[in-house]
Amino acid sequence: MKNSLNSLTLLLPLFFLFSCSAPQTAVEETPPTVSKNTGTDISATAALSLKEEFQPTADKDTNANSQSCNNEQVKLTSDFAAGRMDECKRTGEYEYSITLVPENTPINSSPWYAFKIQAKQVTDITITMQVQGDKHRYPPKISRDGNKSWQLQDYQLKGERLIMKVKASPQSVTIAAQEIINNQYYVDWAEELTVQSAFTQSILGLSTQGRPIYKIESRDENSNEWVVILGRQHPPEVTGALALFPFVETLLSESELSKYFLRKYNVLVIPNINPDGVHAGNWRSNANGMDLNRDWNDFSQIETQLINDYLKGLVAQGQKIKFAVDFHSTKNDIFYTMPVDYGVESSYFVRHWLGELDRQMPNFNVVLRPGNNPNLGVSKQYFSDQFGVHAITYEMGDNTDRTKIKRIAFKSANILMINMLSETDHDKE
Ligand SMILES: [Zn+2]
Repeated sequence: MKNSLNSLTLLLPLFFLFSCSAPQTAVEETPPTVSKNTGTDISATAALSLKEEFQPTADKDTNANSQSCNNEQVKLTSDFAAGRMDECKRTGEYEYSITLVPENTPINSSPWYAFKIQAKQVTDITITMQVQGDKHRYPPKISRDGNKSWQLQDYQLKGERLIMKVKASPQSVTIAAQEIINNQYYVDWAEELTVQSAFTQSILGLSTQGRPIYKIESRDENSNEWVVILGRQHPPEVTGALALFPFVETLLSESELSKYFLRKYNVLVIPNINPDGVHAGNWRSNANGMDLNRDWNDFSQIETQLINDYLKGLVAQGQKIKFAVDFHSTKNDIFYTMPVDYGVESSYFVRHWLGELDRQMPNFNVVLRPGNNPNLGVSKQYFSDQFGVHAITYEMGDNTDRTKIKRIAFKSANILMINMLSETDHDKE
């Protein structure tokens, strides 16, 4: 399953002129290009003025947001894990209108959608998609092989309406905002990672709606220092997940460097912190409508509580949290860091690490964004304040070349291990 995402081929949109978030061309096996984001500014929480709020339900087995647009010939449905189209209407013989609605407001502008199309006979249909009170962020992708591989779907933007023509057929196709990485995908990935190794996958606890939150651990009895890897606090941020997988695979690989690293450091990976949000196709929140990456001060949500309790339990047993990486997506590739003068140990450690990444990847511009937001409730700040160590928010661009995401993850994980094992004095520049 992992390899299927490697073959993502983003095709040039036909209608670049209208492009809202034009993906760069990305062809497998070509040299990486520096990501030049031509997308719209997505800072739009203030622009939202929605009248209705989505009420999450406790339904665990079907997607709470699912809705069907059915007639005898054509069927549009989002009744599957991570599926979502909120409102669907048939507006003409072969025309459909979909409205995307956030789970609550105000909210970060990340309108997620994922739906399947099937027809009795081959039929050309037109889908118009709009966002209630907001605008599109993700150019549509299409999968014709059961979500194994994805291509960019041609589309036009007319004002705030995204219009696409799709050939519907008896073989169902999926249209989605990004590649679909649902809860099951994580379980399968972790099983593959842990099946023939000493790494363990276990359930850390249950989410608000009772879904398992898994942790993967590599633990050496002679080591008491931990690197913590977190992912998917924000459900639509799929490129963050596409970076987490190769990053973790590199740390936990069979390489000599990994073996040496894993004798010195323990690794805790919680790859999917928000399984309810992922299942529902939420734009941002967990099942209570809360942004988990604003909850690392209050711990009002079970998902953040579980992790906080677990980490504090480790520390109570004499273990030490040494470093943390939290994977996300945004418009561009950015590493949010703690400032060198924040007072955490090894002040220059992150600068050394990512500076070396910048040197080793001349075609990738490493952007560091140091910041200190004590009241925001983000995980990065929590790790620094609670454990006195560095932590970063690792953000991959929505439209960054998928092969390049892997390459950056592989390089950055290897350089991280070298830096954590080196004798370099990270208290000095
Ligand atoms: Zn995020």
